[in-house]
Amino acid sequence: MKIDIITLFPKMFSGPFDESIIKRAQEKGLVEIEIRNLRDWAVDKRGTVDDRPFGGGPGMVIKPQPVFDAVESLKSKSKKQKAKIILLTPQGQPFNQQTAQHLSKSDHLILICGHYEGVDERVREHLVDEEISIGDYVLTGGELPAMVVTDAIVRLIPGVLEKPEAIKQESFSPLLEAPQYTRPENFKGWKVPEVLLSGNHQEIAKWRKEQALKRTKERRPDLLK
Ligand code: SAM
Repeated sequence: MKIDIITLFPKMFSGPFDESIIKRAQEKGLVEIEIRNLRDWAVDKRGTVDDRPFGGGPGMVIKPQPVFDAVESLKSKSKKQKAKIILLTPQGQPFNQQTAQHLSKSDHLILICGHYEGVDERVREHLVDEEISIGDYVLTGGELPAMVVTDAIVRLIPGVLEKPEAIKQESFSPLLEAPQYTRPENFKGWKVPEVLLSGNHQEIAKWRKEQALKRTKERRPDLLK
């Protein structure tokens, strides 16, 4: 898979993809993540990519031209199928595990990070395939949402996780995960449930199923609908 992230602040991405599972996924060639500076598609020498909003109001709006040009040039490099263009916006569909699963099957994703007051509406209307929000709050820019979305997608690409069976029991698949414990068996008098020490795999699986259901009923009954 290829993921291009278009941003005005490329330096924000130095670090999060250079560690742990996402780093190894890139080293194994399972994903290629490229950070693209929107200013590279500015047409003036000052690298202007934003302007004041028509009708007045505070802040600046990202102009359509550099975004359209950036996407067109990145799309033309797409070797296989059509690239999917995603705008990060608080007005988008709430991001969840199901969306991450569906996007993890794509060949090429182009993520557009807004900033300031956002992006000219014509980008949303005429360029973008999907709009994603990571929650009902407003962040400074689309950079952190792009990192969240990329992380959630990449770990689902086949071959990325060393133990892919873990995904089937993880939270939102579709229940919340059962409680997890590690050594010591007794910590400050708080003991690990006996069944987990029993070595009886059938009983352990049954306990985990029950706990996952109980936890989901208590915390996220909406997931059971
Ligand atoms: N004026 C916009 C509004 O009220 O809908 C908010 C703009 S926000 C300050 C700047 C950029 O941050 C957005 O264009 C978007 O790319 C990103 N952003 C902010 N909150 C987000 C969220 N919850 N999910 C996804 N992207 C978000």
